[in-house]
Amino acid sequence: MNGLETIRVAVSGANGRMGREVCRTVLEEPGLELVGAFDLSGQGRDAGILVGKDEAKVGLAPLNKDNLEQSKAQVLVDFSTPMAVMENIHLALDCGVRPVVGTTGITQVDLESIRKKLDQQGLGAVIAPNFALGAVLMMKFAAIASRYLPQAEVIEMHHDKKVDAPSGTALKTAEMIAAERTEKPGAREDLFKLAGVRGGVQDDVHIHSVRLNGLIAHQMVIFGGLGQTLTIRHDSYDRTSFMPGVVLAVKHVVENPGLVYGLENLIEF
Ligand code: NAP
Repeated sequence: MNGLETIRVAVSGANGRMGREVCRTVLEEPGLELVGAFDLSGQGRDAGILVGKDEAKVGLAPLNKDNLEQSKAQVLVDFSTPMAVMENIHLALDCGVRPVVGTTGITQVDLESIRKKLDQQGLGAVIAPNFALGAVLMMKFAAIASRYLPQAEVIEMHHDKKVDAPSGTALKTAEMIAAERTEKPGAREDLFKLAGVRGGVQDDVHIHSVRLNGLIAHQMVIFGGLGQTLTIRHDSYDRTSFMPGVVLAVKHVVENPGLVYGLENLIEF
């Protein structure tokens, strides 16, 4: 591409909270064109009208091979559900469409199968547990802090409609902390009076998930050291916070083959 061509983008989960925001962004962003809006619900509704804009002449439809191919999309942005996402990714790749994925629930095994398919097809994909730049920085700072303060706990807080726990961001944060720290926190002998009270454990990092109406997406990483704590906190107050990261990924993926896992790999620190 020469940087002047328009990138044709389809969205799956287009009727959802994130999907609608992506549709609005694609309609507004110079250089991007919305060519498909896929969801199980809202079918037949125009994607432009759905997000309070002019008619886009893109009707919501089910995501399947025929509809995706007909859309001529180059990129499929997926914010659907953990249950649907892997099928959507494989469908996109089978149609020669590059996936940009924010949906959580993708495992290391899933990543390997995606990597294999990308290699076979020479296509690119971006999968990011968090598309907010501030959240990416929070994870990066947490990884650095863990070199000096190995004891860490994560508290992630999301709106009460979020179906999975913990968040993909919390899991990724724990992985990054584990990869960077030079010593593990010491073992503990806890006396639990309530099941699950210490949260879940990933890579020796305890993760606590809060689900409450009124929240969007928030995370604190608390480090403990001799006579001190360090708290690194990020708050997404609005779903627009994820959109610059999604646009960055869409522009990256049309030009570059291979898998990018994590927005931090598209940003220079
Ligand atoms: P949501 O409002 O529930 O939207 C999901 C949408 O996907 C719903 O409209 C759902 O339809 C639809 N859907 C279900 N199965 C589908 C399929 N097979 N094909 C296409 N669409 C399908 O959820 P959300 O709040 O937008 O979040 C979506 C995902 O993004 C979640 O996994 C969330 O954790 C993640 N997320 C990631 C980031 C990030 O930065 N990476 C940020 C925020 C959220 P029905 O309602 O009819 O089932």
